[in-house]
Amino acid sequence: MIIFGSKSKGVEVGVDIEDFDCPHCQQTGMVAHGAVRYFHIYWIPMFVTKKSALMVCPHCKYTVEDCELDKQTANSLKSLVYENKKLIGYNFGLFAIIALFAYMSISSTIIGLISAATAGDEPTNATDQASEAPAPEAIPAAPAIELLIAEGFNGSGFIFNFHGEQYIACSLHQFDGLSPEIMYGSELNPIEIVEQVAKQSDLQILKFKVEDLPLTGVVNYSSRDTPGVKRNEPVYIFDTMNKSYLGRIVKSSFAGDAHIKMEDTYPAAGMSGSPVISARDGNLLGVVLSADSGENATLVGFEMIRWVNTPKVISSSSH
Ligand SMILES: [Zn+2]
Repeated sequence: MIIFGSKSKGVEVGVDIEDFDCPHCQQTGMVAHGAVRYFHIYWIPMFVTKKSALMVCPHCKYTVEDCELDKQTANSLKSLVYENKKLIGYNFGLFAIIALFAYMSISSTIIGLISAATAGDEPTNATDQASEAPAPEAIPAAPAIELLIAEGFNGSGFIFNFHGEQYIACSLHQFDGLSPEIMYGSELNPIEIVEQVAKQSDLQILKFKVEDLPLTGVVNYSSRDTPGVKRNEPVYIFDTMNKSYLGRIVKSSFAGDAHIKMEDTYPAAGMSGSPVISARDGNLLGVVLSADSGENATLVGFEMIRWVNTPKVISSSSH
């Protein structure tokens, strides 16, 4: 049972009102005090419900309450009494509750920040992610893909279909902004690059000698009607062993066009150039370019492929 109610209490102020005559003994000068009515829970004052003022005659102790006075006089009497009285004591519970809520929200924010900062080590991360999803969703298995390795094993890329032709996508930064001359399939079969057909901020699209096929695991790029990704969209990215990793599109300030919150940690080192594939329709979305950790990335940045028109050669390699 919660005990609550309201109580009244006098507020000792003792302001001399020199120009008021006692209605009882007609002596001039009375002393003003306050009286508060407050709401309490278990007798702990929560907040003031009413503030009133009264005047006491120092001679005959006759009391005049503010409700007996005209409104203007009552108001000026009240402001005289309460001008310097903050009444914090009677609002104690309310202040305490406000302070408690403020503390709780600050500490939960801090806890949130800490868990966000340490998310990489938390096995509960995937569960949190799943609970944010608007509805449970059956996610198709990842398509089989085959990553290509660049000369010197310093970068990766992949082959994709577009307008019935096949191209290679990879990053620019792994090749110092240049095009690789040769890339290798998983059997270390060399694939000769013939030209660069498109270039974005950190992404290039290359044409290669088709006779260097066959290759398995070619990704489809169909340039969606509305290029871009939706928040919470499930996506697959891949490691050097062509193993798939599921994540979801999130907003973040991390480098890249869009970001993937991984369901499990992702071995990102050297994985710039992995395709980002929609887990819903298997369509190619972009190329992995950055991550928050080399070994156990939980956040991965990628650049979207914006190549929505029929491919056009923008430069030819000289070899
Ligand atoms: Zn009097």
